[in-house]
Amino acid sequence: MIGIAITPPYTEMITPKLDPDWAKKAMLLIEECGRVSHKSEGRIKEGSAEPFIRKIAINYGHESILEHASFTANFVGSRSMSHQLVRHRLAAITQESQRFCDYSSEKKQDDKENKRLFVIMPPSIMGSKGLWEKVVWQADDGSLVCDQKPILDVLAAIGEQENLSREQVENGFEWCRDQLYAYRAYLRARERGVPSEDARSHLTNACKTEVYVTYNWRMWRHVLGHVKCGRALNDHAQWEIKGLFMHCLRFFEQEIPLMVSGLRNRYYFHKMMEDIPLTPAEWADFQQIIDKNFVPATPDQLLDDIAGTYQRPIKVDGLSEVTS
Ligand SMILES: Cc1cc2nc3c(=O)[nH]c(=O)nc-3n(C[C@H](O)[C@H](O)[C@H](O)COP(=O)(O)OP(=O)(O)OC[C@H]3O[C@@H](n4cnc5c(N)ncnc54)[C@H](O)[C@@H]3O)c2cc1C
Repeated sequence: MIGIAITPPYTEMITPKLDPDWAKKAMLLIEECGRVSHKSEGRIKEGSAEPFIRKIAINYGHESILEHASFTANFVGSRSMSHQLVRHRLAAITQESQRFCDYSSEKKQDDKENKRLFVIMPPSIMGSKGLWEKVVWQADDGSLVCDQKPILDVLAAIGEQENLSREQVENGFEWCRDQLYAYRAYLRARERGVPSEDARSHLTNACKTEVYVTYNWRMWRHVLGHVKCGRALNDHAQWEIKGLFMHCLRFFEQEIPLMVSGLRNRYYFHKMMEDIPLTPAEWADFQQIIDKNFVPATPDQLLDDIAGTYQRPIKVDGLSEVTS
């Protein structure tokens, strides 16, 4: 069977996986380097790194000392996601190659009977986060493998349970069918001897990709929300990027809270989260983390942020319509 496997985006933190002491080492490194400026190395003792970094980098803003420590994460998402991710230039990036990974090769596939292409389906395609979650999560391995008939059956069954319109179900089906056609065209091209690097031109932006990214601590704060209304965690950012970075935020908050302390974004929380598929528990968890770490902007700052960042009307909690 030739099929597509609809799979959810996810983040894996790599540095902590390889080094359980990573958080402590990162703080010690920053303290060691940071104290040279005032020659206060003699004041290094158990527990002195956290208050030192908070005072110098977070409160006084001497953030360059944060650049001494770096962390790596693996982002799994669509090629749309990765096109945006790489716009953050102060990073080391390594990505799954569509030249070297041959999606037609049975050798590269776990299941030799079935050829499948992993794809990421945006929730907006079916206009229902609930439906998206059911489709994506129902398979044991976190992905749904389908050829044309099963996917229509699955979508129809979920559509019935969720009380969705026929049009919503058809939209989901149309999307899956197009991915499948694209994949078939790719396979036919490979059979004709077209190299992977050219056959990939048939594939869509929905194709799953993996990107290993290393940012230094300062850069993590930048993408998570330090500047104006944030970069990745911005209410206008794409749903996958927001979801992936929200999981990073939660991870850092649990493991090294100082790293994400004093960011901004709070006023955008609901708008920021509305298109990310989340469980109710995750939603509550994230709300708490944002409340704790993101410094709420004053209404004036908020207006400045909007005027400086977006040239279009935007509605904000507690404020009337604003046009920059
Ligand atoms: C909601 C949203 C919509 C977007 N829409 C578009 C779009 O329509 N088209 C588009 O092209 N992009 C778009 N982008 C991408 C955006 O323009 C930036 O490229 C991206 O957010 C990278 O952020 P950054 O500018 O802070 O740079 P980063 O690469 O993240 O760098 C971090 C910081 O380092 C400094 N820095 C990095 N490189 C240099 C340098 N060479 N010189 C001086 N300082 C440097 C800057 O202070 C910068 O802010 C969008 C991003 C978002 C979040």
